[in-house]
Amino acid sequence: MNTTEQTTPLLRVRGLCKHFPVRSRGFIRRVTGWIRAVDDVSFDLARGETLGLVGESGSGKTTCARSILRALSPTAGQAVFQSASGPVDLASLPAHRLKPLRREMQMIFQDPFSSLNPRMTAGQIVAEPLVIHRLASGSTLDDRVAGMMSRVGLDPAHRHRYPHAFSGGQRQRIGIARALIMRPSLIVADEAVSALDVSVQAQIINLLRDLRDELGLTSIFVAHDLEVVRHLCDRVAVMYAGRIVEEGPVEEIFADPRHPYTRALLAAAPSADPDIPLPPPVPGETCDTGNLPAGCAFHPRCPDCFDPCRTIRPELTKAAPARRLACHLASTTLR
Ligand code: SF4
Repeated sequence: MNTTEQTTPLLRVRGLCKHFPVRSRGFIRRVTGWIRAVDDVSFDLARGETLGLVGESGSGKTTCARSILRALSPTAGQAVFQSASGPVDLASLPAHRLKPLRREMQMIFQDPFSSLNPRMTAGQIVAEPLVIHRLASGSTLDDRVAGMMSRVGLDPAHRHRYPHAFSGGQRQRIGIARALIMRPSLIVADEAVSALDVSVQAQIINLLRDLRDELGLTSIFVAHDLEVVRHLCDRVAVMYAGRIVEEGPVEEIFADPRHPYTRALLAAAPSADPDIPLPPPVPGETCDTGNLPAGCAFHPRCPDCFDPCRTIRPELTKAAPARRLACHLASTTLR
């Protein structure tokens, strides 16, 4: 890889949108409006970096991640991925050209039980991507499956067992092994630990962190749990109502959150100490992305709201060398 390739982001997302039509009842089912689940999202993902996409349910983080990998077709925008054969815009690529790229981009799902085929053994599940892409067979395939199962903490001797014979944490390890067996350059983990018990969560987080360091993984980690993001990610993008409202290095965002929504999310995050009572959730109702308020979408819930917030939508702009912020508080000229 030459110097230019090393410095070019592995993924460059620009103006990504995913809008779902709202249709009237009845026979004709006219389009009466749009749910702006993801609206004008832009960010870069450097090689070897882990970006956390965080926000409440309905913030658009999962839809954004799925639109990038084309599990959903974006409505507009670009997602330029540096594939082994050169840059490709995933957002506009025809479906038949996506299949060869799948080996370079893999997803780890939230619910390990429903994402694993109950009629396939653990070994068959882990081997499946290599079989589909015809990358290994026979003893080579067996060796790679056994090696990957060991690497994620599974006993290769259990390869003939079916998913129901494993615990929740072991099933997630099978999902991770399946995602990593082709050494993809981009991993998207969608709430990968949120369906697991707290003690198992810690084991899987440690495993993901070790694999990230060992394999130099580049990943997008979708999560609503900020502690998980703090432990795993280099950078965090906070989403609200389909947009990024704050983005920056994880230590800076946790030490000095500047957007009122980020501050509210951090205040509502449960402590790791089970003796400390759960804090109240972020005050107010989450925003309806089919009927966004004028101005800043967060203004009906924002304790710092002032006049311009009700009419002018804040743009995401640079707020420090490595940070971006979409809040009128960042601009003193509006005060
Ligand atoms: Fe609050 Fe205004 Fe900033 Fe929106 S723009 S987060 S309403 S201060």
